[in-house]
Amino acid sequence: MQLYNSATHKKEEFTTHTPGHVEMYTCGPTVYHFAHIGNLRSYIMEDVLEKFLRWDGYEVNRVMNITDVGHLSSDADTGEDKMLKGARREHKSVMEIAQYYTDAFFDDCRRLNIKTPDMVQPATGLIDEFIKLIEGLLDKGYAYVAGGNVYFDTSKLERYYIFNAHDEEDLAVGVREGVEEDRNKRNKNDFVLWFTKSKFEDQALKWDSPWGVGYPGWHIECSGISLKYNGEYLDLHCGGIDNAFPHHTNEIAQSEAYIGHPWCRQWFHVHHLNTANEGKMSKSKGEFLTVSLLEEKGYDPIVYRFFCLQSHYRKGLVFSWENLDNATAAFHKLIAKVAAQDPADGAVDQTVLEAYKEKFRAQVGNDLNTALGVTALYDALKAKTNGATRLAILNSFDQVLSLSLLEKAAAVREEQKRQKTATQGGYTITGEGDPAVDALVLQRYEAKKAKNFAEADRIRDELKQQGIDVTDVPGGASWRRI
Ligand code: AMP
Ligand code: ZN
Repeated sequence: MQLYNSATHKKEEFTTHTPGHVEMYTCGPTVYHFAHIGNLRSYIMEDVLEKFLRWDGYEVNRVMNITDVGHLSSDADTGEDKMLKGARREHKSVMEIAQYYTDAFFDDCRRLNIKTPDMVQPATGLIDEFIKLIEGLLDKGYAYVAGGNVYFDTSKLERYYIFNAHDEEDLAVGVREGVEEDRNKRNKNDFVLWFTKSKFEDQALKWDSPWGVGYPGWHIECSGISLKYNGEYLDLHCGGIDNAFPHHTNEIAQSEAYIGHPWCRQWFHVHHLNTANEGKMSKSKGEFLTVSLLEEKGYDPIVYRFFCLQSHYRKGLVFSWENLDNATAAFHKLIAKVAAQDPADGAVDQTVLEAYKEKFRAQVGNDLNTALGVTALYDALKAKTNGATRLAILNSFDQVLSLSLLEKAAAVREEQKRQKTATQGGYTITGEGDPAVDALVLQRYEAKKAKNFAEADRIRDELKQQGIDVTDVPGGASWRRI
């Protein structure tokens, strides 16, 4: 496949250290609050990438961290501890908060058809590994102790890797954003590997270390977790674009200084979900949109996935309710078209199936063009072949897109089978084909026509008592058991 690599700023042929095998790492969530649908845009696109690689024949080992150690609210290793803030807000312990929001995150993922990575590692479970890494960096002269903390010395690198074309001025952003300048740093881009001088007196999670009781810095957990579970040769590292600097830049610095050779080949960054008024969706500003909120408002979470797939991951995506409504209408139409395919129509034509897969491979394999992947579904629906083959093509594409197309279409077909209509004098009753119920629905209609509304209401109540809900529709009524 061709994939844009943020490290080289180019679209490149995707390659792996071991042929046919992908070592993949994803920066996981900070679990002090629910994930918003912006965070989940990143996880949806990364999920499609993983599934495309598997579909394309690769074996994938995907690793993800859970940031449950106090993650500072600023890129400058200063500011508030997000985990502690969450614990205070909800009167719970930090670990209770972490567990609750980790579960909530995977619950959201399940509802969005996002596969759980092969290995999920909470940072608090691997402190010894981080200490080993920091000791190694100190031994090799890439780190120093100052004011009780251990810092990474960026001046020791031949090249402090930068994803975007930052100039020196921009590089200071991380520092300038901070509430206070850290006077212990030798160079402005140096960052903390281990804190013992906590800015939070009541820091809940602390561990013993050769440098005193404290906790790891923000970036070391991803290097530590990936080196342990992906090994020294990482093929693909994913995250939202805001993670490119300083987080990923610092991950590269630490990992390469420690292992002594290039670390990760390919960097995949998903651009942001934005709102029209607030800009980038974030956990701390504007309307906090979660999967649960979408469901409460009556949206199918898979429609949000569909909405994300319609845009390229390297472009910002604007969220609005109107956009989601449009996606809902389009998705329902798509499902209706899939439902109209007859699975019993013929046998799967392998030649046609392979030809369609080849085209999909070229389209989606061009820098993960999911919008073309969605278009390919409509092309498959128009394929000059039988129903069984069209459904086989759709099923194959859906292994990558994960829109539950066939399940949803089967449910629509079931519902259509269940529904029977009876027409009397131009009045059509859609229901389950129960003549007694149909008769009552018709009586209600006649009472309404005669303006005998009391009788019409009485019949509606009688039906309700039988567990039947009636809705008036153009030209008749539709009923269902509730
Ligand atoms: P966090 O839980 O804040 O560590 O973020 C989890 C992931 O979501 C990271 O990969 C972020 O880069 C990504 N992310 C944060 N905000 C957005 C957004 N508005 N749109 C897309 N991805 C985001
Ligand atoms: Zn990370």
